[in-house]
Amino acid sequence: MLKDHADLIASELSEGTGASVALSIVASGVRSGLDIWFQDLEKRHGPIVELRPHGLRAHRVQLRFGNFSKQILKQISEAPTEDIQLARSLVTSIGGEANVEISGQNLECWTIDDGRFTIEATLRHETTAEGGDAIVATCREVIVPIMAAMAELIGYDQIVPEGTPGELEGALSLALVRRRERNPRNRLLCLRLHGYRCNCCGLDPQVKYGSAGKVLEVHHLQPVSQLSDEKRYNPKTDLVPLCPNCHRAVHTRRPTPYSIEELTSMMGANVH
Ligand SMILES: [Zn+2]
Ligand SMILES: [Zn+2]
Repeated sequence: MLKDHADLIASELSEGTGASVALSIVASGVRSGLDIWFQDLEKRHGPIVELRPHGLRAHRVQLRFGNFSKQILKQISEAPTEDIQLARSLVTSIGGEANVEISGQNLECWTIDDGRFTIEATLRHETTAEGGDAIVATCREVIVPIMAAMAELIGYDQIVPEGTPGELEGALSLALVRRRERNPRNRLLCLRLHGYRCNCCGLDPQVKYGSAGKVLEVHHLQPVSQLSDEKRYNPKTDLVPLCPNCHRAVHTRRPTPYSIEELTSMMGANVH
């Protein structure tokens, strides 16, 4: 039963983290759990997430570092502030039903100091935790954001900025905005916080196109206050999901795109 869901879980994890993951089903007695790690690292060389049944209706998820993670921990300790901020936001996006604990640290401002770092979460289900559906739900709700946070800190798939930074004098550089809009972890956070529909026209592409509808994009809002002060960037409030059409439309004005309100009122004016 769980085997049938393994491919779905792997593809959701890869999409959300922007990295390939390896996954093994671990059977302990009749009950099965999962081990998940980043495919390009040997299991012992990086973060490992274990999912185990906890009682009859709950799952316990634990993230820990393998015994040979020194190199990756060093890489994580050098993560830029913006990546740390996104990683923390991803972990706090885990719903309140999942009880999350981070090495005795504050949920909002944890740091990975050494290989003893752990994140533990318990998620209770309405029905038995044995079924594939419950495991998929735990992966979606808890494991994807945790692994995405680790992927961000490790720096998977950093997009090389295009254009010349600083070409917009006094404004947020176009390259930086593009980098934020294309980061798969930003997309994940944005959709988790703002929902899986276009925040301008309301389109839910997965309703319209079914499984071909994973086309929502991330748009970076640029409040006036931000144009000269990059430090005010907040991934929770400065990113919104837009469908490809609306996203294209807001960017028809350059260098400052139309605001969502402006585009909405332009759309209103064209309704006959
Ligand atoms: Zn739209
Ligand atoms: Zn945009």
